[in-house]
Amino acid sequence: FSYPLPANEPVLGYAPGSPERTALKKTLAELKGQTADIPMYIGGNEVRTGKLVEIRPPHETGHLLGHFHAGDASHVTQAIDAALAAREGWSNLPWEDRAGIFLRAADLIATKYRYHMNGTTMLGQSKNAFQAEIDAACELIDFLRYNVHFLSEIYKQQPVSGPGMHNRLEWRALEGFVLAVTPFNFTAIGGNLPTSAALCGNVVVWKPANTQVYSAQMFLRILREAGLPDGVINLIYVDGPTIGEVCFAHREFAGVHFTGSTGVFNAMWKTIGANIPNYRSYPRIVGETGGKDFVIAHKSASPDVVATALLRGAFEYQGQKCSAASRAYIPSNIADEVKRLLVDGVNSFKMGTVEDFGNFVNAVIDEKSFDRIARYIDDVINSGGASASILVGGTYDKSKGWYIAPTVIEATDPQYVTMCDEIFGPVLTIHVYDAEQYEAALRLVDATSPYALTGSVIAQDREAVVLATQALRNAAGNFYINDKPTGAVVGQQPFGGARASGTNDKAGSQLNLYRWLSARTIKETF
Ligand code: GLU
Repeated sequence: FSYPLPANEPVLGYAPGSPERTALKKTLAELKGQTADIPMYIGGNEVRTGKLVEIRPPHETGHLLGHFHAGDASHVTQAIDAALAAREGWSNLPWEDRAGIFLRAADLIATKYRYHMNGTTMLGQSKNAFQAEIDAACELIDFLRYNVHFLSEIYKQQPVSGPGMHNRLEWRALEGFVLAVTPFNFTAIGGNLPTSAALCGNVVVWKPANTQVYSAQMFLRILREAGLPDGVINLIYVDGPTIGEVCFAHREFAGVHFTGSTGVFNAMWKTIGANIPNYRSYPRIVGETGGKDFVIAHKSASPDVVATALLRGAFEYQGQKCSAASRAYIPSNIADEVKRLLVDGVNSFKMGTVEDFGNFVNAVIDEKSFDRIARYIDDVINSGGASASILVGGTYDKSKGWYIAPTVIEATDPQYVTMCDEIFGPVLTIHVYDAEQYEAALRLVDATSPYALTGSVIAQDREAVVLATQALRNAAGNFYINDKPTGAVVGQQPFGGARASGTNDKAGSQLNLYRWLSARTIKETF
C-alpha cells in the first residue's frame, strides 16, 4: 500500500484575461452577493445558536459577508462527545479508506472548489489572489496529498522478525480526542492541523480563529462532501479560554495541535501540566508559535538579492506570516544601495482591496492588529530618531479597512524594540552593521530574539554562508541561503522551529504525523 510521492499542485497565475481570473472574479462576486449564515458542525449536525458574530472583509469593513453562530462550553462538551462516539469506527477503518477521503477532498479543491477556497480566504482574511492561491489551494492540497504519502511510509516501518517469531508495529491512533487550534493567517494550516491528526485515525475538535471561520467552514463542507464520517472533525466557534477549560479538564484529552501565539501556547502547557494526573495518557502537545525572523546580508551580497528577499519576505500578506522577515542586518558597504531599493520597492507597491488584482498589499486582519502595529509605528515617530527612524511608510488609515502602509524602520540600536518584538504586520526593521564585523553580527542575530523559526543569509562568498550556517544552527528551524525566509512548500521545506517558536514537529513531514500515532509492538511466536 505505497502511495507515490505526489507532485506539488501547480500554482495558477491569474493573469489578466486568464480563465482562472474570470472564474475567481465570478466567485468573489457571488460570495459578496450573499449574507452567509454559518453554523458550527458537531457530530454531523449543523448547530445554530443565534449568538451571531459578523464577518467583514478586513479591507472593506463596510461590507457584511455574513455571520457565524458562536457556541459556549456546552458545545465544546457536545463536540468532544461526538468525536469520542466516532472514534471506534474511524480508527478501525482501513487506513486506505481514511486516506481516500482526504485525497478526494484535495481533488475537490483542485477541480471544483478552488475558487471558493481562494475566494473565502481573499475576502475573509484579506489575501490577494496569489497569496490565496499558494495557501488555500496549493498548500492545502499539498498537505492533504503529501500526508497520505508520509503516512504510507511510516506504516511500512516494521521491526525484524525471525524463524518462529513475527514482530510488528501497529501504528495506533491516540486514545481520546485531539484539539486543533488554528490561526487566521494560513487557510492551509487551518486545514492541516485537524486533518493530519484525523488521517492517522484520531478524532478531532477544531477551533479556528474567528477571523478564519469563513474559509474554515468552506473546507469542512468539502471534507463532508468527500465522505468524512460524522463526528470525526467537529468545527466549533467558542472562545479559547472556554475551549481550554473544557478540553484540558477532560480525561480523554489526547493532544493539541496548535498554531498561534507563544503566550497562548505557554498557558496551554501550564494547564495541561496541572491536569496530568487526570488524563488516561500523556497528551501530545504540538505547537508552532511566534517568530522574529532575520535576514543577514554579508558584504559579498548583491543588493538586489537582499532587497528582493526583504520586500517579498517582509511584505507579502502584509507581513502576517510567522516566517516573515522582520529584522535585517545589512553590511555598511551595500547599505545605501539596499535602502534605496527598499524605498523604491515599497513606493511601487499598490495597496487596496483584494478584488483589484493589481494590489500587492491589502489590509491587516483586524482592529486589534491594526492598533498594535500602529502603536509600534507611533513609538518610532515619537522617539525623535534617537535609536530608530522611519525610512519609508509609517502611515495608516482605518476609514475603509485596516490599512497599514508597508513600513521600513532603520534602527541604529540593534536592540531597539522593533528589532526584538514579533509585530506580525507589514513592518521591517533594518540595522546597518560594520561590514568588517560579520561574525559579531552573526552573534547579534543569534542573541537578539528568543524565537527560532526562520532566517536567511545572503552572500556570494561561500565561506560567509558556511559561517552563518554554523553560527545560526539553533537560531532558525527553517534556514534559507540566498532567498527570503517565507514560502515553505510542503514536501520541499518541512516547516517549524524550536526555542520560543514551538515544538518543531515540522508541518508537511513524517515528523509531524508521528506525533498523532502511538505504536503497539506485537510479538507472535509459532
Ligand atoms: N509556512 C509558511 C511559510 O513558510 C508560514 C507559516 C506561518 O506563518 O505559520 O511562509
